[in-house]
Amino acid sequence: MNQPWTTDRAWQQLLTGNRNFVAGSPAHEHQDAKKRQELVEEQTPFAAVFGCSDSRLAAEMIFDVGLGDLFVVRNAGQVLAETILGSLEFAVEVLKVPLIVVLGHDQCGAIKAGMSVQTGTANFAGEFIANLVNRITPTIEQGLSVGETTIEEFTSRHIRETVSELVQRSEIIREAVKAGKLGIVGAEYKLGLGEVQLAESLGISK
Ligand SMILES: [Zn+2]
Repeated sequence: MNQPWTTDRAWQQLLTGNRNFVAGSPAHEHQDAKKRQELVEEQTPFAAVFGCSDSRLAAEMIFDVGLGDLFVVRNAGQVLAETILGSLEFAVEVLKVPLIVVLGHDQCGAIKAGMSVQTGTANFAGEFIANLVNRITPTIEQGLSVGETTIEEFTSRHIRETVSELVQRSEIIREAVKAGKLGIVGAEYKLGLGEVQLAESLGISK
């Protein structure tokens, strides 16, 4: 891979890797000792992924990539926070990734928790869990106000709103998109299929 990575090429590479994973025939590139040694001095990942922490959403596996390929930031329900924004700005400004993928998934426990707050059936005691879930409830309220009711609708809305929030809050990221140096994809991973499906995109051609 000696050509420079572009936004479109990075996204196509991730789609290709995901197809390998779905088909059950991953290439498992960049996972050997030689690659590990090559990367000691420097990393040049071709994309950043901000996804849910769910154990079934292992970024490198579902995109069939290896060491040094992805800069990955995850938390439960992929909820933006200052440390997340800082990590993604680092990926764009310092590592010069041409693509950020915001990755949600079906049957997300964090979205379910947000829905349980709405219905008064939430049953977690942790103060910090509450902080996290409270960052999802405005999305659910917004969805309810326009007639949405299902977890699928809230999941899709949360992915799209996270992409919007990312460009609203980070000037560096917003300017990189405007300058054509960065694309952002919002995508939903389907647990059963293993497939990554496009939900939203900014600054990519497809
Ligand atoms: Zn999740």
